[in-house]
Amino acid sequence: MDVTRDRVLEALKGVNDPELNQDLVTLGMVDSVTVDGDAVKLQITLTTPACPLKAKIEQDVRAAVARHTGATDVEIVFGSKVRGPTQMPLPGVRNVIAVGSGKGGVGKSTVAANLAAALHLEGAQVGLLDADIYGPSQSKMYGVEGKRLMADDEKHILPLRNHGVKVISIANLVEDGQALTWRGPILHGTLTQLLKQTVWGELDYLIVDLPPGTGDVQLSLSQLVPVTGMVLVTTPQAVALVDVKRAYTMARKTHIPVLGVIENMSYYALPDGTRDYIFGEGGAASWAASERLPLLGRIPITRRLRESGDGGVPIVVSDPENASSVELRRAARLTAGQISIQAQNALPMVG
Ligand code: ADP
Repeated sequence: MDVTRDRVLEALKGVNDPELNQDLVTLGMVDSVTVDGDAVKLQITLTTPACPLKAKIEQDVRAAVARHTGATDVEIVFGSKVRGPTQMPLPGVRNVIAVGSGKGGVGKSTVAANLAAALHLEGAQVGLLDADIYGPSQSKMYGVEGKRLMADDEKHILPLRNHGVKVISIANLVEDGQALTWRGPILHGTLTQLLKQTVWGELDYLIVDLPPGTGDVQLSLSQLVPVTGMVLVTTPQAVALVDVKRAYTMARKTHIPVLGVIENMSYYALPDGTRDYIFGEGGAASWAASERLPLLGRIPITRRLRESGDGGVPIVVSDPENASSVELRRAARLTAGQISIQAQNALPMVG
């Protein structure tokens, strides 16, 4: 059997992106096909560098090309181009991801910090905006505490940068605790400034760490930019779940799509290998299932996660193989995957 470009393309038409449920050729993901004797070289552009199913796609492509053409020497070069809503939420910014929770202390900021760092480690361009007026902690978690923000001649704010992520926290803008007294119009003004006057540059994902609950910041954000989606963080505990359901209702009312749920502090792994479900077991999973929301992760409690937050380096950077890191990195890929699915579903139907 001759190896031809047409046969290779035919093979690729039989390989589906498992999340987007269409074949790679129809999805426009095949950038180039080069055939040289029996050797095939492919360039495939994924919808995110953090693609959760890259390994599966690679395996399926190899199998299909071998089956259709007999070629055994197949080189695949993966690239990526992040998809987002047809209209960019902010100039240069492809996706805005809000991270919300029902109540404080469930690990929302920890999750937001690590989602941002994990997406950067996957190769995406990422920004992080800390809009948690009640407890702005990103400047501490990113080790940029006390650094003053700089503005250029046109009053554009230059974000700080650490661990590959552009960061701005309300804590870098005002004195500790000052934002607590702010209400509607001032909050709205400050959020507008942070979102729109910051020189974000080109970003695939801008993560916004929201205050807990369902207050003015949530409302303002939904009015200021088209939010691509929200990730809800909760612990398995009943009291946290009651509150996260409210945050979910608010997201729906303000037309922010919810990408999924991350259960934090899911369990503590005991030295004998068993798990202690300190805050109860499975609460978030069953709620997510009942709402048909993807469960994006179940993050265990680890001492290292707490320490890394306090130490100014997200755990996915400082200790990528830690049990909490592995689950946080997976959650980041699944979140990116949900965004790709959403962008694909929003495209007008062809034919
Ligand atoms: P929130 O933003 O919801 O108020 P934080 O992210 O500030 O919560 O987390 C509260 C505290 O719990 C922080 O000290 C953080 O380091 C710690 N923490 C969060 N998640 C975990 C976890 N899975 N394991 C250990 N400590 C955690």
